Amino acid sequence: MSGSSIFITDIDFLVTADADQNVLAGAWILAIDGFIDSFGVGTPPEVEGRVRTLRGRGRILTPGFVNTHHHLYQNMARAYTPGNNLPLLPWLAHMNKLWRYFREEDLHTCTRLGLAELMMSGATTVADHHYVFPEGATDMTVAQFDAAEIMGARFHASRGSMNVKSDLISDWALQDEETILTETEQLIEKYHDSTSGSYRQIIVAPCAATSCSASLLERSAALAKKHHVGLHTHCGETVAENDFSVEKLGLRPLDFLLERGWDYNRAWLAHGIHFNDEELSQLSQYGIGVAHCPNANMRLGSGICRVPELIKQGIKVGVGVDGSASNDSGHMLAELRQAMYLARVRYGAEAMSALDTIDLGTWRAAALIGREDVGKIETGLCADFALFPSEELYSNGAENVVDALLICHARQVSELIVGGSVRIENGQFVEIDLIELQTEHKERAAKVRSRSFNRE
Ligand SMILES: [Zn+2]
Repeated sequence: MSGSSIFITDIDFLVTADADQNVLAGAWILAIDGFIDSFGVGTPPEVEGRVRTLRGRGRILTPGFVNTHHHLYQNMARAYTPGNNLPLLPWLAHMNKLWRYFREEDLHTCTRLGLAELMMSGATTVADHHYVFPEGATDMTVAQFDAAEIMGARFHASRGSMNVKSDLISDWALQDEETILTETEQLIEKYHDSTSGSYRQIIVAPCAATSCSASLLERSAALAKKHHVGLHTHCGETVAENDFSVEKLGLRPLDFLLERGWDYNRAWLAHGIHFNDEELSQLSQYGIGVAHCPNANMRLGSGICRVPELIKQGIKVGVGVDGSASNDSGHMLAELRQAMYLARVRYGAEAMSALDTIDLGTWRAAALIGREDVGKIETGLCADFALFPSEELYSNGAENVVDALLICHARQVSELIVGGSVRIENGQFVEIDLIELQTEHKERAAKVRSRSFNRE
């Protein structure tokens, strides 16, 4: 995808997300061919040539948000009654029954719908963790990349895997190790683009230490290291998971992963709630990061991630909305707001400011998934911007308009720009018929659920 040029003037507030958390009032920004050329305050420069201009009056501009953990396929099982009031492991047992007949076209719809939610709430880069590959479904990752291209988001596809039988996972959801590793390497070779401004990346992503064999975990880490790509899994989500791991594997899950070669600075772990002090030191030592998913953690009653302590210890951390069946909406700004308030529940009201929270959705999240070209307003970085209305009903009359973005009820973007291209304008997708997409998704979701019941 080639980049576009855009010139935005008269922006009420521009949140840079730089090291000093600078916020510029009355700002302008110029992007050329998809990358930030210059920005500043006061009288904007004369721009030569045919560059699209946009007025930023009544807008707060932030870097496009980066979602670090998700399972987009689950948006066909959200608010799914059997799982609505359960903790993680029994919830998983219900979830895992649904996908036997789930195919590429279903995932294509899920990905478009889920990206629409995320983009409407400010996300421009999305990492998804897909680990459901029923027999007969072979091109799941390709379907996701195609869907992301239609929506216009940067997409990191985590090629997930499960190969260990348990009470929680149906046999049809397991794949053999050779198939998993061969397909993952083929995807890396065919699709992974590590250049600046990349729209497609592959991540090696076994589902969890408890659902993958020791050999698969070890070879997955080796594969990620060989190709210098990201490595991702779930870890430390619940006390029950830690106990299960000790019982089945003889080690806590992080120790088990480290013994299998996960001492890798491109690795990041979803949730990371139940790590002890020694484990935090290990994460810091090896450069392993954590995707913090506050809504899912509260929804499943899993616990509270030690985010301020992680940051203090130099551990990479970013926010992820997590799968739509444990959240159950992919709203980036709302997720960030919950991260801020959940940190305050554990550490007090001074633990995390609104700007600290924006960091968790921008440059910290970008660093977590291995991107240096997104997540900040800085010359040379990707022209990925979320423009929110400075004021709306739920923040009307706010004294500090920028803090209100987080402190008041979460809102949707007015405009969303990816690589200089306007994807959302005046609160509407430019090229996507959202109502049509919602109808398609609703009908398909009902079919997915009924197919699995009728044919079990
Ligand atoms: Zn997850």
